[in-house]
Amino acid sequence: MKRFFSFLVVSAVLLLLASCNGNKQADDTELKRATLKVEGTQLMNELGDTVQLKGVSLGWHIFWPRFYNKNTINTLVDDWHCTLIRAAMSVEPEGAYVDDSIWAKKCLYEVVDACIEKKTHVIIDWHSHGYREKEAKEFFAQMAQKYGDSPYVIYEIFNEPEVTTWDSVKSYCRNVIDTIRMYDKDNIILVASPHWDQDVDIAADSPLEGYSNIMYSLHFYAGFHQKWHRGRADYALKKGLPIFVSECASMTPFGTGDINYVEFQKWLDWINENKLSWIAWSVAPKNETCSMIQPWGNTEGPWKEDELKEWGVMTRELLRGEYVYRDSVVKDTIVVECQ
Ligand code: MG
Repeated sequence: MKRFFSFLVVSAVLLLLASCNGNKQADDTELKRATLKVEGTQLMNELGDTVQLKGVSLGWHIFWPRFYNKNTINTLVDDWHCTLIRAAMSVEPEGAYVDDSIWAKKCLYEVVDACIEKKTHVIIDWHSHGYREKEAKEFFAQMAQKYGDSPYVIYEIFNEPEVTTWDSVKSYCRNVIDTIRMYDKDNIILVASPHWDQDVDIAADSPLEGYSNIMYSLHFYAGFHQKWHRGRADYALKKGLPIFVSECASMTPFGTGDINYVEFQKWLDWINENKLSWIAWSVAPKNETCSMIQPWGNTEGPWKEDELKEWGVMTRELLRGEYVYRDSVVKDTIVVECQ
């Protein structure tokens, strides 16, 4: 009897050890799956897989803070199948980061922490159009210390520089990257280019050198940016510049006008051919075509179809793999005054 009891105890311990070992292996595999690196122009993970992340950007936190919460993120991951979320932390408008950094970071942390909990990649987006180098360096030093050990965090250090030169953007990017790399040696950093992230071809002629795991943001709005803009990106890719589509949509760059299904499909085909990651703009209820939620749409989701605008329906279908190509504009966007 004593011998039988000992046998039971030893068996239980062995089972427990096997279970722990299994959990550790699963954790190791998840860590390798989530840990990103850039090889050539391609985003990869530590398992050696090619990585193509897809998702949505939240709107400016200063205007639409109600979507900066854990339940909204859970909906976007579970119901929309996002593998990437972008938190557009507003920098300059009145009341944004420059005026109230504590509230801006509170909104941001809600999103980043929720994404990490869901094992989903997240972009910390310095959503600025103007130079704020001093503030950006202070901010990203904090972010790198707080999140540099998480494989899920990506830094976008300058949303969209406006009319400026590559030399100027390059200098800013170098200084912010150097600050981040003091605390975080490896997470992916997205670099900007002049004219709202359009000039990747100019950046490709004189890229930042001496850094690993940096990629260049390309933004497009298919109602305006078409073959000529893909030509610039093709030129950049051919010269070895890694491209990341950190913001895109299907109408004019003002976020207005009809969805151009035909031109957006051309972009999607190009994105998939090149295995690029992409983010659609944006989860917001503003009176514009590029906002995905109707003004009466609930905050946390899941959203019924009549709570989404046409662009929200399309983006959700794309992310779920349910989209069926539409070759013409099929209906008008419902216009309701808001904001
Ligand atoms: Mg790191």
